[in-house]
Amino acid sequence: MSQQAASHEAPRTNPEITEEFLQKLPKTELHCHLDGSLRVETILSMAEERKVKLPAEDADKLRKLVVLGEDCRNLVDYLKAFDITLSVMQDEESLFRTAYELVEDNAAENVRYLEVRYSPILHTRNGLRLTQIVDAVIDGLALGEKKFNVKTGIIICGMRNINPETSYTLAELAVAYKNRGVVAFDLAGAEEDYPAKKHKEAFFLTRNNNINTTLHAGESYGPESIHQAVHYCGANRIGHGTRLKEDGDLMNFINDHRIPLEICLTSNIQTRAANEFSEHPLRFYYDYGLRTTINTDNRLMSDTTVSRELYRAHKHLGFSLDEILDLIVFGFKSAFLPYRQKVKLLKTVLNELNELTTQPKTQKLYTTANAEAL
Ligand SMILES: [Zn+2]
Repeated sequence: MSQQAASHEAPRTNPEITEEFLQKLPKTELHCHLDGSLRVETILSMAEERKVKLPAEDADKLRKLVVLGEDCRNLVDYLKAFDITLSVMQDEESLFRTAYELVEDNAAENVRYLEVRYSPILHTRNGLRLTQIVDAVIDGLALGEKKFNVKTGIIICGMRNINPETSYTLAELAVAYKNRGVVAFDLAGAEEDYPAKKHKEAFFLTRNNNINTTLHAGESYGPESIHQAVHYCGANRIGHGTRLKEDGDLMNFINDHRIPLEICLTSNIQTRAANEFSEHPLRFYYDYGLRTTINTDNRLMSDTTVSRELYRAHKHLGFSLDEILDLIVFGFKSAFLPYRQKVKLLKTVLNELNELTTQPKTQKLYTTANAEAL
């Protein structure tokens, strides 16, 4: 009887690859800045509540200042946009709200694992203590986790362009919050003239405390920066790595050690790390065998989502559904989660991907039986 019923079912075919279809697939978001991923309406309402003067008072005008188009190509405009967001993120309630809403926005496109990064030192203008700044984000994420089906973690960012002593203080903060909401330590900020090796004491501290490490590197500076991230600072993942292709030997090392790249396509075009989507090295890295993950960097400034970034990989770099599924699985494999939790999550996700697609690869290679092969 059941066999007869099954024979009447039309064979499943994969839907066309659209942004809407990609929204349905379970995904990760591993590189997402809290102060770059607010809603425009939230900036306006928080500014009003706090009597903070913004350079524009209505949503359309403000959007023009903080959402940077593909023709932004100007670091000054880019940094001005962060001045605006940071001006309303100087108290616990605003940090709580932005963290919570970020989980909600991720849930809306079926992101199931989210790592949020920020540098607490940038939120001390009105006298908040670093611990208050971390606690408020932990609480916002916790409520988001409870309401939506998203697992979250915090990455604390040291800052290249402040000073190494501040990075060390932030590294101490990451140590204090290890297993209490914080999953990794990062180095962000201007790359040129601010080499990672100057911050090596901060990374020495976090590494000695068995804390995961990722660094922005190879975005606005060459492969030497990635070399320092890996060999001076012990990077377990690389933020961007756009210029890794300029050093084949280092690229092989990163490939051999399965060090994931956190790729952010739109952001790279806006900051001129890459000239055009079609010229972005993601295609080359993927074909070469590197573990490439897809992320937004800044949902607000880049007006994007993980689904939109995946769609752009399809549209501009010809990623097929099979290949998109690879990118998604790489994301889950690269999560800073304890191994057993990661296997469990990946098994659930593989089952869902198999339900949502009919790609032979997901049915053959990505069986839950080999989820342990991380
Ligand atoms: Zn970033």
